[in-house]
Amino acid sequence: MKWRLMVWGMLVLLIMLPRVRVTAQDTISLQWSLPLPSLKVTSGFGHRIHPVTHARDFHKGVDLSARCDPVLSVLDGTVVEIAFNPILGRYVRIDHGDFQSVYGHLSFILVGNNESVRAGQPIAITGATGRVTGEHLHFSIRFRGRHINPIYFLWQLQSNGQSPQINKQ
Ligand SMILES: [Zn+2]
Repeated sequence: MKWRLMVWGMLVLLIMLPRVRVTAQDTISLQWSLPLPSLKVTSGFGHRIHPVTHARDFHKGVDLSARCDPVLSVLDGTVVEIAFNPILGRYVRIDHGDFQSVYGHLSFILVGNNESVRAGQPIAITGATGRVTGEHLHFSIRFRGRHINPIYFLWQLQSNGQSPQINKQ
């Protein structure tokens, strides 16, 4: 008789699962994700001495420690640019309405231009393309065209939304 209960259990789960997801999405105001499975900042936002040129420089994003890691879209959005430049290397820009996120120095890109992506969706694999001393993810956020500190942005998401925890190392 046990297997019958299991079959019924599975059926109930299969029927319930999509509904549970819908109600979960209704109650969570904002779906978001960290840009990497765990965060370790190796170079912060703002004025700094550039690690390659040794010149004064304004760092428009943060550098995050990475090693062949999946890069995750921080919010739902649309891929608006996939390109290469000598500084950022291979990069992806995603539009989220008022915000845009950029992920640089990538090795592989897993999405296409104009593709819709979800928060937490893997969009690329980290790498060391462009002007770098070693592998890392350059992550930046623009709010209505102006670069803002991506760490404050993530903290803001964390206090507004739920789930992902910033892994402070
Ligand atoms: Zn950087």
